[in-house]
Parts: sequence; structure tokens; C-alpha cells
Amino acid sequence: MTRHDEERDARPGPDPSPPPYALPLIASDLDRTLIYSAPALDLTMPDAEAPRLLCVEMYEHKPLSFMTERAAALLAELARRTLFVPATTRTPEQYRRVSLPGPAPRYAVCANGGHLLVEGESDPDWRAVVRERLTECAPLADVRAHMLRHARDTWLRKERVADELFVYLVVDRTLLPGTWVKELADWAGPRGWNVSLQGRKIYAVPRPLTKSAAVAEVARRTGHTRTFAAGDSLLDADLLHSADQGWRPGHGELADSGWDPRHVRALEERGVMAGETLVSAMLAALPQPQHPHQHHQSNQPPQPGEPRPGPASSPPSPPSSSFPSSPSSSPPSLSPPP
Ligand SMILES: [Mg+2]
Repeated sequence: MTRHDEERDARPGPDPSPPPYALPLIASDLDRTLIYSAPALDLTMPDAEAPRLLCVEMYEHKPLSFMTERAAALLAELARRTLFVPATTRTPEQYRRVSLPGPAPRYAVCANGGHLLVEGESDPDWRAVVRERLTECAPLADVRAHMLRHARDTWLRKERVADELFVYLVVDRTLLPGTWVKELADWAGPRGWNVSLQGRKIYAVPRPLTKSAAVAEVARRTGHTRTFAAGDSLLDADLLHSADQGWRPGHGELADSGWDPRHVRALEERGVMAGETLVSAMLAALPQPQHPHQHHQSNQPPQPGEPRPGPASSPPSPPSSSFPSSPSSSPPSLSPPP
């Protein structure tokens, strides 16, 4: 060992104080939040002024889901700078069809939290945790039987069980009776199941199966203390609720529900343009790096919706205990809006 080595070994270890800024974990829903099928694009400008789109999903050899090119470039940047975790109700198989721009996500939440993919593979430890939690609510077979008993051939197009975890129906919305989803939600609620209507799909999902639980597990494993989240549906409410900062598009169940907690920014944009605005807003909200020895702080108070600053002199904000405690910050009850 040289004298130089001895000197180096005698030095104290890394400074245990928190870094001058901590980049958040970014957890986002996919469908109708970041990526959009053709019927969900909702472009309103003249065709000649429409943004160029990037196809990010093929299904049976046909293009299925899109982002604007600008949203794709911004998402790639976001994924390079932070830990970006897709959080979707899609099964792993459906998720693998999506080819997101930027580096392949190391973690992805699928099946509404039923699967945690690590480097593309479903984590067996997480599956065991989920299986245990699902014993708390009514069995899937009962819920499925109830849904099928009350569905009508006139509007039911398909029925699917996703990975033995939850059920969804594909329906013709124009023929679906207006009260059907509400009645299902009223029946399922006391049995520990949530109901969500998204596009042509009616989901029934056991309440312990949440995106937020799986994202919290990722944060636990990676040591992230702050989370940004985005989503559009009632199944995203828990994810947004437990994030430090959230965004939702101007369309979807959450927009229709009137749920408006202070830490979730409600965008006016609808459709694929909302996806672009949302990624842009998340990038803009990332804390800026500060030199570790530069302790001066801006005298400007944070603007509404800006992230709380994370200077070296204060510990990072806890992930969920710092929510504004206004009554409106509770997630909406998981029954669809009328
Ligand atoms: Mg969605």
C-alpha cells in the first residue's frame, strides 16, 4: 500500500447529508396519458397544422398508439435524466408491444400493480406480495360471474381476465345503458373491488391492486424520496394521490370527476396534445442542479405547481406525508362519474 493509498483510506467516507437536489422518480400511466390510439387523439386544429405523430405501438401488424414527435423527444430526455417508470393497467404482454422513446425503462408497473417488471421480467417477490394482499377481497371468479350475468349481448364485445388478477369488458359505449357502470361499482365496492370505465373498456380491479403500491416498491428499492406522477383515469387516482406532484390531462375520468387536489395540476389540453404538455411540464418541474457549496437561494417564492426546492440544507420531502391536507386532496371515490 503506498502512502497515497493510506492517505486516501484515512479520508472520511462520502458526505452522508442529502444531495443538493434529488431528481424524482417519474411514474406515468400510458394509455390516454402518454400514448393515444387514433380515436383518442382528439386533434382539433386544421389537418394542415396537426403535429407529426410517432407510432409507438403496433397491434396485429397495424399502427395502434401514438405520441406527438415533440412529446416523444421530450419523454426520451425525461427518461435519460430521471428514473422513468411506466405504470399501466396493461398486462405485461400488452405493455411489451409499446415501444417508448428513450432508454428502455428499468422498472415498469403492469396489470395495475399486479406485476413489477425489472429489466423486462416480472419480479417474483412482488407477485407473492400481491397474491397475499388479494386474499383480502372477493374472489375474481365471483366478480367475473356477476359482470357476465348482468352484461347483455347487444353491447358486450369481449370479456377478458388479465393475468388472473382482474376482469375487463370491451363494450359498445353507444349501446351501454347509462347506469350500468355505476350499478357495477355500487355492487363491487363493498366487495373490495374498484370499477373504471376507460374508452371502450370497463375494468373491475381488486382494491389492493394499485399502481401506487408497486411504484412505492420501486422507490423503496432505488432509494427515491420524491415522485412525480401522471394519469387520466380513476385507476390512476391512488398514484397521483401518493405522489409529491402530479399532472392529469383535460380529458378522462379524473377530469370528469372534479377531483382537484392542489398538488395535481389539471391541464386544459385534451387528447394527444395533453400528452405533450404533460411531459414538457414534468421536465420543467425537475429541480435544477445546484453547486454543493452554493448555499444561496433564490428569493423568488415557488410559483403554484412548481416543485418544492430541495436544497442541501433540508432533507428531501417525504413521498406522501407532505400533501396539502385540503379535503379535496383525498382521491375521488372509485365510482365512475355520472
Ligand atoms: Mg390511462
